[in-house]
Formats: sequence, C-alpha cells, structure tokens
Amino acid sequence: MITNFSDSKSIAGIATNLSSYNTLNSICQPLNLDIWLPNTLSSNNINNALFYDSSLKENLVDIWHKYNAFVFCLATGAVVRLIADLLENKATDPAILVIDEQGKYVISLAGGHQGGADFLTRLVAEHLGAIPILTGSSNANNLMGIDIMGNSYNWLKGEGNWTEVSAAISRQETVQVIQDCGSILWRNSLPENHNFNFTPPLNKGGLRGDQALSKGGIREDKFENCSQIYITYKKANLAENTPQVYWYPRVLWVGIGCERGSSKTLIDFAIKHIFETQNLAMEAIASIATIDIKADEVGLLEFCQENNYPLLTFDAETLSKIEVPNPSKIVNQEVNTPSVAEAACLAAATNLNKFNIVRETISNPLLVSKQIVKMEGEKGAVTVAVAQSDLEYVKSNGKLSLIGIGPGNLNQITPAAKTAIMEADVIIGYSLYIDLIKPLFYPGQIVESWPITKEKERAQRAIELAQWGLNVGVISSGDCGIYAMGGLVFEELAEQNWDGKQPSVQVFPGISALQSASSRVGAPLMHDFCTVSLSDLLTPWEVIEKRLNAAAMGDFITVFYNPKSKTRTQQIYIARDIFLQYRDGNTPVAIVTSAYRENEQIRVTTLEKMLDFPIDMLTTVIIGNRSTKNYQNWIITPRGYLGFE
Ligand code: SAH
Repeated sequence: MITNFSDSKSIAGIATNLSSYNTLNSICQPLNLDIWLPNTLSSNNINNALFYDSSLKENLVDIWHKYNAFVFCLATGAVVRLIADLLENKATDPAILVIDEQGKYVISLAGGHQGGADFLTRLVAEHLGAIPILTGSSNANNLMGIDIMGNSYNWLKGEGNWTEVSAAISRQETVQVIQDCGSILWRNSLPENHNFNFTPPLNKGGLRGDQALSKGGIREDKFENCSQIYITYKKANLAENTPQVYWYPRVLWVGIGCERGSSKTLIDFAIKHIFETQNLAMEAIASIATIDIKADEVGLLEFCQENNYPLLTFDAETLSKIEVPNPSKIVNQEVNTPSVAEAACLAAATNLNKFNIVRETISNPLLVSKQIVKMEGEKGAVTVAVAQSDLEYVKSNGKLSLIGIGPGNLNQITPAAKTAIMEADVIIGYSLYIDLIKPLFYPGQIVESWPITKEKERAQRAIELAQWGLNVGVISSGDCGIYAMGGLVFEELAEQNWDGKQPSVQVFPGISALQSASSRVGAPLMHDFCTVSLSDLLTPWEVIEKRLNAAAMGDFITVFYNPKSKTRTQQIYIARDIFLQYRDGNTPVAIVTSAYRENEQIRVTTLEKMLDFPIDMLTTVIIGNRSTKNYQNWIITPRGYLGFE
C-alpha cells in the first residue's frame, strides 16, 4: 500500500477564508481531514474545524510533525514560502498538496513519492471532481517511483544513488534490475514500453509473474555504465562508476538458540557477525525465531524490540520434527529437540512457503547452518542459523476489500468504493469491469484482469494475496454482494477456516442493476419487489421456476438478472409465460441493457411484447405489479398515497 491516509487521522487541511474552507469541507469527511482555520473565522458557526490564534506560519511550525500530509487551499506561491524552511528531506517530509479556492485543480507540490503526495492528489482530485496536477517524471512515464516500488511488499530501502537512478529512468535509459529474491509481482504493472532489463530474465511462458526467484539465480552479465536496481538479500557492494540502488525484500529468518542470560549486546554481535561473514544484508531480516522456552529471554526480547523484529517461537515438539543438517544430542537432552536455531528458522521460513503464489520453491531454504558465537567480555553463547523463504514477509495482516463498482460509470461509484480501489495494492476482477474503472488506477498498482468464468479462482487468488499481507480489492459490477464476488470470497474464506479477522474484510456496497435499471425508467420499484436470476448454471431450473411462480403469484414487482445468454435462450420465454398466468398482458415492463454504459439501451414495453426486443447478458428486465402504470415513457408503481390500485 502506498499510504493509507484515509484510515488514520493524518491529514491537515489549511484554509484562510470561508470559500477555501468550503472547498476543504467537501473532502473533510471522506478523507478524515483536520481543517485548520485562523481564529478570525471562529464566529462563523463552523463546528468541524480547529482554530489557531497565532500566525499561519507559527501554527505550521507547531503542527508540522503531527500530520503525514498538508492540503493547502491557498495560493501556491504563499504555500512555497510557508513551507520552505520546514522541508528537510524527501524521505521524511510530509505530502504537500495545493488546491485552488474553487476546487478545480489539485497540485502535488512536494513529497510526491515517499510522502505519498501523488497518491493523495489523485484521491483528492477524484473526490472533488478536480484535475490532478502531477509533475513528476515517473508519473509521466506511467511508472511507479523506484523509491517507493517495494513499499507494498514491505521491502526495506537500502543505500544507493536514488537521484541518479531515477534520472536515468526518466531519461528512458536502460536500467538493469538484478533481483535474487522476493516477489516479482511488481513487474506485472510495468507499462509495455519500459526500459528495465531483468537479471535473471523474466520467463514469459504464461506465468502470472508473481513467483519468487530461487537463490543463486543471478547472472553476472553486466551492462556497461547502465544504472542498476538490486532487489536482494545480499549485502550491498556499491560500484564506483555505476549508479545503483538497493531494495531488500524480507526473506531471511534468523534462528537463535542461546544460553540463559545471554545479553542483547551478545545477540546483536552474533547476528551482525554472521551476516557480515556470510555477506547477507541485515535489512533483509524478516524475523527472529526460537524455541518457546526462550520467549522470556530478556536479551533476546530487548534485541527484537530495539530492531522492531517479530519474535516467533515454536514448541519443542514442532522443532523436533524438522529435519536439520546438524542435530545435537546434548541439545535434545536439555530441551527435547535436537535443534533450536536451525529448526526454528526453517519452521519460520517455510511457514511462508505454504502459498501457491510461488512457482520456484527454494529447494534448500537453510542458507546458513548453525554457528556458535561468543564475545569477549560477555557471558553466554549464541547459536545462529539463517533460512530463506520463497516469498518475502510482508508484515501487515492483509485486507480484502469487496467492492461494488455500480453499473459502470465512474460517477455511479460511491466515494468510499473509489477510495478503496485507489488504495488497494492489487485489484482483481473480470476484464470488462477492470476496463470500466481504469482511470482510477495508479502507476505501479497491480491489476489482474480475469476471464468471466473463473470466479472461484479469482476469489482464491484474492484470498491468497491478502493472506500474504497485501491489500486486495475484488471488484464486482453493481453491488458486490448481489449475484457477485462478495459471497464467493466469504464462502472460500469459510472453507479455509478463516477466523473472521485475518485477513480483514471490508465490504463496499454499489448501485445494483435493479437500481440502475429502475432509475432509467422512472420509479417501478416503489412497492414490494424481488429479484430472480434466470441463470441455471449454479441453481437448478426447478428452483428458479418455483420462485418465478411465487413472485408472480405474490404480485411482487420482479427484476430478472442474467435473463438470457448465447446458450441459455429459453428461460426468459418460460419466465414470461409464468407471469402471463397471473398478470395482464399490458403490465409495464422495462428492458434496460448496459445501464450507464456506452451502449446503454432503454425500452419501456409490456409483458405481452417484451420478447420482441433484444435481451442479453447485459440486460435487466423489470416486470411491474398489478398496479404499475405507464406515464409518457416512464414507469411508475404507486406507493399507495393516492389510493392503492
Ligand atoms: N452484482 C451485479 C449483478 C451481477 S449478475 C449487480 O448488483 O448489479 C449480472 C447481471 O446483472 C447481468 O446479466 C444483468 O442482468 C445485470 N446487470 C449488471 N450490470 C448491468 C447494467 N449496467 N445494465 C443492465 N443490467 C446489468
């Protein structure tokens, strides 16, 4: 995820008069803004803003470190002068946005990549209906910034000449990517005309492109003077004449066994010593693993806390079942498992290998066999072993957003659903719907377009990526919980004994076809109604027929979804005939195809004549009840205020 602004209270809006306040106010709720105003505006009955007594400049100094982003509704020149002294470093500076008073333009002024300003600018512009102004070069080339490309996967940014490599990319020079570990999912989002050259090369053979690479895969061929991006678990070795940058996927799991009372200093020394001698990058550490009886080992806990490493512990029984190269009888006598360090790092690393997302599994995950380290002046001894996982540890819990995108026009999507789409690391959906929401995608966002029939696979794929730790948006047309992907994802989760919490799930409703079709012909759904899907692919036809009879008999206004396909042609005839048994041939009927899309067709007809019109899989049919009337070319079902019949 680039930056999840909307989840945390992290954006300050700055306005200095009522009109700019009004512009900010319109995005206050969806973006969770704190709006700051001068005290002189406090008499205007504004109850959702914070006021300052000092000058704006002084107030900015006070609140500068409290927010991740500042949205100024102020002249750009004034903003530049106000923030000039406050900016320090693009790795830590907040996102700075400027909106004109009328809310027509949103400028990403500073902190475009690492501050998340480009992302936030798109989001704000989308909510305001404004034009986003992004002047960075990677945006122009439809590329993600290389300084944020690993963020979604929790890679650690290492050393290097980031400015020079970014400049080479913007000059459209060939840049060599040397990747020996971690996901290559990010390559899927590259535009076709990118200038990256991959080592090892990308195998195109119909792969989904998200497989991790096994170790030892690096080819040593070099491109003369060409900038390089290393994605590696090995220690950086910066060349003098070649601009290079380093990203570290977290694929290394450090197994620790230690004598009781070993100090933090000793543990720190032992791990650094092993990593140094084995040429491994400390930045690639995913976590520390050990036996459960060490869960209270003070030095180990202090070390993990200081470095923000999770401590994974396993019981002796689990560890004793893991095959290791150097089992020890003495260790077995002491703690009931012949290995702690080797077994624990293997247990931790292979836990991540359960995902099918990996094509090439690492055949021997144990990278460093156990080594005992002592240090002069420190009591105790520490055993260290290191294992490598196929996939990197992403750290976050993963999220599934089940998103309804409405009938197919960007104006008919809820703001919350738009935000969810724009914030997702990955968007998964049927290709037709993916095309409809393309303008919302950001460069670098992973978009997986699937054929229509593969719903179950789509759900499984989404769950797998979320379990790994990504924020995955699954999109459906209309509402995601009405004949759509939402239920399928929940069913699959339940089948996998999901605990209801991880990955977290959020459902974003959308305007369903019954509403979009109805809106095009008036108000046919003003009384009790029901929907029936005529597709018998997943429901036996006898059941559908029974429900059709019940709906017709009960005088429900009835909406047909999936009325007819190329191969299912007869169901609509049978359905119509059932309704004719209970309703007059003149009952108003709406036939709406591709509502709110380019080829929209709207027809108002009757039960008798409805089959004279084209009906297909993009059509929704609405059959009125006994009171439904036509007026001009509209359909109205009386609610009863003016008499029931
Ligand atoms: N989740 C969707 C329904 C998917 S089932 C929703 O809530 O709308 C697919 C059926 O929905 C289609 O066969 C058609 O009957 C209907 N449908 C979806 N989008 C439509 C549109 N834009 N116009 C008319 N009907 C539509």
